[in-house]
Amino acid sequence: MRGSAPPSTDVLVVGAGPVGLTLAVDLGRRGVRCTLVEQKAAPEFLPKMERCNARTMEIFRRMGLADRIRAAGLPADVPMDVYIILAMNEPPLLRLEYPSVAEARAQIAACNDGSMPLEPYQLISQYTIEPLLKLEAERLPSVTVRYGCEFLSLSQDDDGAVATVRGADGSAHEIRARYLVGCDGGGSGVRRQLGIQLHGQGNLLRFHQALYRCPSLYDRIPIGDGPGRGRHYHVADDRATFLIMQDSTRHWTLHAVVDRAEDMAAQFERTIGVPVDYEMLYVGAWKQNLLLADRYREGRVFLAGDSAHLMIPTGGLGMNTGVGDAIDLSWKLHATLQGWGGPNLLDSYEIERRQVGDRNVGASRYASLGRRAWRGQYRPDIREDTAAGRSTRDALVRTADVEQRKTNEMIGAELGYRYVGSPVIAEEPGGPEHLYREYVPTTWPGARLPHVWLDDRTPLHDRIGDGFTLLRLGRTSVDSSGLERAMRASGAPFHVSVVDDAAPRDVYGYDLIMVRPDLHVVWRGNAGPAEPESLAALVTGNSLPRTCERK
Ligand SMILES: Cc1cc2nc3c(=O)[nH]c(=O)nc-3n(C[C@H](O)[C@H](O)[C@H](O)COP(=O)(O)OP(=O)(O)OC[C@H]3O[C@@H](n4cnc5c(N)ncnc54)[C@H](O)[C@@H]3O)c2cc1C
Repeated sequence: MRGSAPPSTDVLVVGAGPVGLTLAVDLGRRGVRCTLVEQKAAPEFLPKMERCNARTMEIFRRMGLADRIRAAGLPADVPMDVYIILAMNEPPLLRLEYPSVAEARAQIAACNDGSMPLEPYQLISQYTIEPLLKLEAERLPSVTVRYGCEFLSLSQDDDGAVATVRGADGSAHEIRARYLVGCDGGGSGVRRQLGIQLHGQGNLLRFHQALYRCPSLYDRIPIGDGPGRGRHYHVADDRATFLIMQDSTRHWTLHAVVDRAEDMAAQFERTIGVPVDYEMLYVGAWKQNLLLADRYREGRVFLAGDSAHLMIPTGGLGMNTGVGDAIDLSWKLHATLQGWGGPNLLDSYEIERRQVGDRNVGASRYASLGRRAWRGQYRPDIREDTAAGRSTRDALVRTADVEQRKTNEMIGAELGYRYVGSPVIAEEPGGPEHLYREYVPTTWPGARLPHVWLDDRTPLHDRIGDGFTLLRLGRTSVDSSGLERAMRASGAPFHVSVVDDAAPRDVYGYDLIMVRPDLHVVWRGNAGPAEPESLAALVTGNSLPRTCERK
């Protein structure tokens, strides 16, 4: 863009799905000039994701959005159980119990060993969260939101990127930005313009999905003796059918491998098993993919969300991974635009987030193979009141009791990811293994800071600001003045939080811990670092990566 008009925005975000909207809101919160373009005229009432996991809710809490998202989403007392059924009017084959948000909150309140997230999950449908985030983005003075604006093509040079877009009136024009982020979903035009390939397994299975308005179903779910309320009902059939309650409890989606869209009405009725009044609002098709982009960046253009990784919804990691991308990139763009962020900061985005994308594609494969394993036990005699029928049911339930849990119990994938090999984290050699199913709290550099309650029952997470935070723990007398001076001299927003309470020191295991705005630990020690200036340069992206030995 040398010699051309100055950029009209600092960051151009293409695509207002949950990831682009989260990125725009977080940039706007930081005061970054940002433009969000979306090809649709308005958010659509179409089903897709419905579960924000615990880590995403921690992120939304830091953005000041968690309470609003909960108020718009599924009420806190609604059960989150998962059922395996023949039909809803028959006793369930298997019930897997999961806490409602209210119950999960009570569990979190009673626990202070760092093993639980600060926020429980939240069920909120994509068609509810998108308008909520759009309103929030529009409220922020540095954010311009343009629906009905389609991204067509881009070019870039050393100073920025120029996107050609088509506005609502049909005319094409250019938007100049210092950085551009493609949050434009699985078919990403930004990714195609950059020539970045997706690799992995595509088009694994094709489902039909339908959305139904059925206001009476939740109150009169006919399962067994009890109310049988839950969020997912997997039908043990040969069509991989599953029914999902949406956030209002008045809307439901059904997914099934059927030949024709029209079949989805009969499939819904078969699944419910008793007559209910309903309206089928939408039928569409979607395909299972396990794909990862070769690169997340080309020059000044980045990919985030489904444009960079496509997962099978089993395990609910798709949007949640994308929200993680957005908040990793947001503060790094802000830091770079402010001038204190060095080149390694933006370089670290792909290094940190592509490994999470890769791992979560793997977690999603693991979960979907589990689903396939129990579905593989289906036999046509499953409904028969015969020894053979009973044996089929028993075998399916035994397998499902193990394999279905893979989908619903991936706390390690959600909370336990740790950035390895990042040029902006003071790495320690080794480190705990990444586990999908288990979360073991750790402050190993690169990990998310575990949640711990303080003596006054406020969470330590809330003490972490929008810049770097040095935690001085457990009444330590260690001298950290060198590090404090070096961090202040770096120009990065930085503050010291003295935490005398015993619990954080016990859980975290160190006297000094430095955390960045996204809650990931960048350094820890029991004495100040030997070379504080080098450490400050490292974490702000201004030096080459190196291993800082722990004290
Ligand atoms: C059935 C189903 C259930 C799911 N359940 C979950 C779940 O429970 N939890 C979870 O985390 N994930 C879930 N997912 C995955 C989740 O829906 C996606 O990962 C998520 O929508 C990705 O968000 P995104 O913002 O990256 O992309 P998208 O939601 O695809 O949004 C991309 C946006 O970009 C816009 N766009 C595209 N091209 C252009 C262009 N040229 N110009 C301007 N705008 C453009 C699109 O219109 C769209 O609004 C589910 C997916 C499916 C199919």
